[in-house]
Amino acid sequence: MSKIEPVKRVLSYCSWPLVFFSGLAGSYFSFSSDHPMVAFSAVYLSAIAVLFGLERYIPYEGRWLQPDGETANDIAHTLLTKGLLEIATLLAAIFPMLAASVLQPLATLQFSLWPSALPMIIQIVLAVTIAEFGLYWSHRIAHEKLFFWRFHALHHSVTRLWVVNTGRFHVVDSLFKLTLSQIPLYLLGAPLQVFWWLAAVTAFIGILTHCNVDMKTGPFDFVFSTPRLHRWHHSQEIREGNTNYGENIVVFDLLFGTYFNPDRPSSTDIGIKGQIARGFLPQLAQPFTKEGVRQILGRRPKGN
Ligand SMILES: [Zn+2]
Ligand SMILES: [Zn+2]
Repeated sequence: MSKIEPVKRVLSYCSWPLVFFSGLAGSYFSFSSDHPMVAFSAVYLSAIAVLFGLERYIPYEGRWLQPDGETANDIAHTLLTKGLLEIATLLAAIFPMLAASVLQPLATLQFSLWPSALPMIIQIVLAVTIAEFGLYWSHRIAHEKLFFWRFHALHHSVTRLWVVNTGRFHVVDSLFKLTLSQIPLYLLGAPLQVFWWLAAVTAFIGILTHCNVDMKTGPFDFVFSTPRLHRWHHSQEIREGNTNYGENIVVFDLLFGTYFNPDRPSSTDIGIKGQIARGFLPQLAQPFTKEGVRQILGRRPKGN
C-alpha cells in the first residue's frame, strides 16, 4: 500500500460530512453578516472548488473526468435556474408583506401559521421536510409521467456525474419543482431566513450528490440524499433509476417504497435511451416540439 492510500481512505470517509457541515457553518456566518448573499456565494464557490479538487484526487469513476462537451450548457442551465430561484426568494419576501398589508386593517388576526417562536434549527428541519414532500413528488412525477419526463430528461442525459452538472435542469422542470416545494412554505408564512436556510441545505446537498468523489457515506445514506444514492438514481437501468427521488432527505423514499441502496457499488452506467439536442437554446426548445419529444423518448419516426 502506498503512503498516500491511508490519506485517501480517511478523506473518503470524511469528505461528505466535512463539506456539508462546514458549508452549513459557513452559511450561518454568512447569514449573520452584513452581506449575506455575497458571503454565502463565497462559501458555496469554495465548496465547489474543494469538490473539484477531490474529484481529481479521489474520483469515484476515472472515466467521468473526461470532458463530455456539455460543460458550457451545464453552466448556462444552472445560471438560468439559479436566476429563477433568486426571483422566488424575492417573492417569498414580498408575499408576507403584501398579505400583512391586506390583512392588517381587517383584524388583529395572526396571519402566519409558521412556528416562528421555535428554535431556528427546528424551523429549518421543518422547512426542509415540508419542502421535501413537494420535491419528492415533483421528481417522482417527472419520472413516471411522460409529459414531465420530457423536461427532466435533460438532467439525466449526462453520461458523467461531476460537481458542474448539479444545476443542469430544464427551466420548466425547475419551475415545477419550485412551485410544489415552496408554495406550502409561503402559505404557512415561513420567514425569509427559513427560505435562505432551505436554499443553503439544497445547495450543499446538490453539489455533493453530483460530485464524482469516492465518498463513503454509511449512516448518512439513511437520512440524506448522498452521492451513492443519487448515482443509482442516474442509472440507465430503469429499475434502479426510478428510485431515490429525495432531493435533500430520503424520508419519503423510505416511506413510499422508492428507497434503493443495495450492498454493491452504485452504478456508473448512467444516462438515458433518448437523444438530447446539442446546444443550450435547442435543449430549452426541444421538449416543445413533436420531433424533439420523439428524440427525447428515443422513439423512431413513424413509418421506419
Ligand atoms: Zn431524476
Ligand atoms: Zn442528478
